[in-house]
Amino acid sequence: METEKLNFDKCPNCGGEHTLADDILQKEIEKGKMAKETRAFLFQHQSIIAKSSGWLSAPIITTFYDMCVDCGTIRCIHAETGTVVAGGKNLPNAGGQFSRS
Ligand SMILES: [Zn+2]
Repeated sequence: METEKLNFDKCPNCGGEHTLADDILQKEIEKGKMAKETRAFLFQHQSIIAKSSGWLSAPIITTFYDMCVDCGTIRCIHAETGTVVAGGKNLPNAGGQFSRS
């Protein structure tokens, strides 16, 4: 399964583009403490979206969330698809960050 990545750059509630964790991260990047391509988020969630009986692998979606600093809405900022193998040994490892490319 090919990985698909989706970015959501604007708040669906107010249209704001700034998010809390990313704003804090940008300050760290400006200080040279973090790599420029790093993206921040408050939390992530992984969902196996479908599993057949006797499954060997299943599609998984990882979603990343942050908070809009303009209106406080918790919103999805990034999502990517992957594949999980039975037993969970090949869970995608976000490692606390993702790249927008
Ligand atoms: Zn907003």
